[in-house]
Amino acid sequence: MASEDCIFCKIASGVLPARKVLETDECVAFLDVAPLSPGHCLLIPKHHFGTFDQMPADVAGAVLSRLPGLGRAVAAATGADGFNILLNNGKVAGQVVEHVHAHVIPRKEGDGLGYRWRPQTLDDTTADGLCRRIEAELGG
Ligand code: 5GP
Ligand code: ZN
Repeated sequence: MASEDCIFCKIASGVLPARKVLETDECVAFLDVAPLSPGHCLLIPKHHFGTFDQMPADVAGAVLSRLPGLGRAVAAATGADGFNILLNNGKVAGQVVEHVHAHVIPRKEGDGLGYRWRPQTLDDTTADGLCRRIEAELGG
């Protein structure tokens, strides 16, 4: 189902234009309008889901199963040495467009793209506690 005022729903349905590179029953991939590198694509489900965690597993599987082939095609077409797959989930994680989308960002040696993430350390007690809580949330 489409969500009114969602630009990615409008791209999926063809109401708004986009440079589409892939279309299946479940998903569409198209060039990002403001790419981090040439060939930067977005893969979206056709159905509207605001965030990744709202997607049923079978839909997520059908959409994400396209990532290896899309990544290979983007890398081959751009001469990239590799690519980043990025999914910003939620505003705090940098998600701006509230329709699930995975970025495929071609990378080349010395392209200057990078992260400002700073790894932290985790003591054993905290790590064990986190492990147990996540397992419990998963129903394990
Ligand atoms: P986010 O920060 O939500 O993970 O990324 C949203 C992405 O969507 C950005 O990279 C932005 O350039 C792209 N984008 C936003 N609006 C449009 C649009 O109308 N068309 C296309 N092709 N890309 C868009
Ligand atoms: Zn949408």
